[in-house]
Amino acid sequence: MKKHNFTAGPCILAPEVFEGAAAAVREFEGMGLSLLEISHRDKKVVAVMEEAQQRVLKTLGLGDDYAVLFLQGGASSQFAMLPFNLLTSSGRAGYLNTGTWATKALEEANKLAPGQALELASSKDRNFSYIPKGFAIPSGLDYVHYTSNNTIYGTQMKAFTKTDSLMVCDMSSDIFSRQMDYSAFDLIYAGAQKNLGPAGATLVVVRKDILGKSGRYIPTMFDYPTHIKGESMYNTPPVFSLYVSLLTLRWMDAQGGLPEMERRANARAAALYGEIDRNPLFVGTAATEDRSPMNACFLLHDEAAHKDTFDALAKEAGLVGLAGHRSVGGYRASMYNALEQSSVDALVEVMREVERRA
Ligand SMILES: *Cc1c(COP(=O)(O)O)cnc(C)c1O
Repeated sequence: MKKHNFTAGPCILAPEVFEGAAAAVREFEGMGLSLLEISHRDKKVVAVMEEAQQRVLKTLGLGDDYAVLFLQGGASSQFAMLPFNLLTSSGRAGYLNTGTWATKALEEANKLAPGQALELASSKDRNFSYIPKGFAIPSGLDYVHYTSNNTIYGTQMKAFTKTDSLMVCDMSSDIFSRQMDYSAFDLIYAGAQKNLGPAGATLVVVRKDILGKSGRYIPTMFDYPTHIKGESMYNTPPVFSLYVSLLTLRWMDAQGGLPEMERRANARAAALYGEIDRNPLFVGTAATEDRSPMNACFLLHDEAAHKDTFDALAKEAGLVGLAGHRSVGGYRASMYNALEQSSVDALVEVMREVERRA
């Protein structure tokens, strides 16, 4: 029986996507070959790349002043690639520190350019359970770095302050889940494995005219223009991950695109947070106004009394991936685009049953 998959990442994808991926591994588009054994220069693979790039732009409502890249090295490599490309030798960048990943991004920039990456504000004082607001952003920064969704703590930024600096955002765990003005951002990056595909590809969407200005020596593979000139095939791209990402992009479009992804995300979030707030046994850990529809973190008030019951009932119902990150504890339900409402309903039913037995 298929489980209800609440894993934070790599995560659930749509059943149609798994079927398409499996078929392509057996034989790709009638070629008599598997997708895994053909050259990335084959015109069918080039067509996959081009369609994926076009669909990313279309889905985000962006034009061809942006380049779309599918790179390797994960979102974590972007923490270094960014300052190489965007932080000038005497410039400064501002980072909003909203969690573990944001902290790593900030630290990585300061390794390359000591003292040049500033922490604009931080919510570390309350274990990153909220998004700082009303903080000052100095003018003239090379860029401001945000993390739109904090996967570990279950917080999401609902608004982004636009400044005179470039705007960069790590959208690893909520890309393609909501409608926004994506053209407000100059560079967006996301590891594929949270809402787009399997691990192995990192999506980068970058406005082309901001590049080539940092004045730094940049290792070839860390230079965005290398990959733009090479049409994201300067070296062997992560072909399988790219293809599964394309299947997901097609699936999203067929479902109704971002408006529908957002509607589903809000419906899932309303059901789960509604139960967390109603059920006297549970408490949410994130500030209410900053709650993420993608990752919901919650605790049992009395773990000693109810944890065994909850865990046993969850297991019996086929719910997996609910353990909270070690830095928060408790539970975390990740509800990415492909998670069915019925999975959330199954979780809510388990929470109600724990209450009935208490
Ligand atoms: C998972 C995650 C990362 C790290 O991604 P990798 O691809 O494993 O390097 C970075 N930022 C956020 C917000 C994440 O959720």
